[in-house]
Amino acid sequence: MRRIGAHVSAQGGVENAPLNAAAINAKAFALFTKNQRRWQAKPLTEDSISAFKSNCLKVGIAPGHILPHDSYLINLGHPDPDALARSRDAFVDEMHRCQQLGLSLLNFHPGSHLRQIPEAHCLRLISDSINLALDATDGVTAVIENTAGQGSNMGHRFEHLATIIEGVEDRSRIGVCLDTCHTFAAGYDLSSLEACQATFAEFDRVVGLNYLSAMHLNGSKSTLGSRVDRHHSLQQGEMGTEVFHFLMNHPATDEIPMVLETIDDSLWAQEIEWLYSLERAAS
Ligand SMILES: [Zn+2]
Ligand SMILES: [Zn+2]
Repeated sequence: MRRIGAHVSAQGGVENAPLNAAAINAKAFALFTKNQRRWQAKPLTEDSISAFKSNCLKVGIAPGHILPHDSYLINLGHPDPDALARSRDAFVDEMHRCQQLGLSLLNFHPGSHLRQIPEAHCLRLISDSINLALDATDGVTAVIENTAGQGSNMGHRFEHLATIIEGVEDRSRIGVCLDTCHTFAAGYDLSSLEACQATFAEFDRVVGLNYLSAMHLNGSKSTLGSRVDRHHSLQQGEMGTEVFHFLMNHPATDEIPMVLETIDDSLWAQEIEWLYSLERAAS
């Protein structure tokens, strides 16, 4: 079945996230396991870890349907060696927190070259950063998110994702999260059924649909190819809604977490219900 949810608040402790997900009838969720705008975080306590696990059981959301997102400060392709080392340490800590929570995925943005190093060099640093993190942890898959390509962010071309994956040693622990808004803003059309089919065929050819491990479901305030990252509610914005019909019935989205990061959280319960209404009955 499709596992639809939202990026819910973990305020007051990670153990609150599954409860916030259940409150909107989600069957998946995303969360930050620490403050996403700070480098430092207190370690997770045993109490918090066990409450998180028991709340997930209680609301019936399995670890494979939970998609933690790493801190916005981390840049795994940072051109400066000291800053890169800091990001790598923080990323290993994020992976470790997922491992402690019994989770199997960590969603992250690939990184930025900051106009100081060539793109190819930046992609190599990102692969190396992933290799270091996979070596230092167990059981957690690193899930690269495609980006809108704002500023000097890498990951807006499917070729970037493919190159990063090529540089990863243990490919059983690498995956991709496609964000609908980022995909569209990066220049891959999703505004009609034919466009969706062509974009997914392109992804399959360049990266491989077998790597698709998660989705972010967002409308887009920005236009096709604008490379501007501005989310909108699902039924608003420049992309239209054909893409959500397409995704709710595509075999590659079965059983992967699909998470809303839409701008109006008061609509999340409705948006989840609407998405499920798009699923055609299984024949
Ligand atoms: Zn993200
Ligand atoms: Zn975004």
